[in-house]
Amino acid sequence: MNVVCVDCIKEGVKTVRPTDKDEHPRKPRCATHRLALRNRQRKQNHGRRIETVYGITGEYYQRLLNHQDGVCGICGPITGRKGASRRLSVDHNHGTGEVRGLLCMTCNDYLGLIKEDITILQRAIDYLLNPPSRNVL
Ligand SMILES: [Zn+2]
Ligand SMILES: [Zn+2]
Repeated sequence: MNVVCVDCIKEGVKTVRPTDKDEHPRKPRCATHRLALRNRQRKQNHGRRIETVYGITGEYYQRLLNHQDGVCGICGPITGRKGASRRLSVDHNHGTGEVRGLLCMTCNDYLGLIKEDITILQRAIDYLLNPPSRNVL
């Protein structure tokens, strides 16, 4: 007897696909639906985690992501990859807890390294525009 995937039954899929009935005798799923389930769970877990850590919902994360065109809030248009598989980190002000936006890991780390200090950022810009070596004879 063929064991049919529980989700295939639900969706009325007629083709009988191989399932993982040995591992999940009560809820066997085909490879396609196994993957779909894993993605759903992953999204759910992510939603729960950011809700606990940052106090924003998965839905808000998605709106923020759309607002940022799906890329990092700093390097986005330059080096960002739309639809990159790696999720963007939620960047927040460590003092006030305010969520600022979504950043790639590099930019998030970078802000941490300079302690979110815009004076340092400005000095870095000045340094690059006017390197000290050019003023030494
Ligand atoms: Zn299925
Ligand atoms: Zn970035």
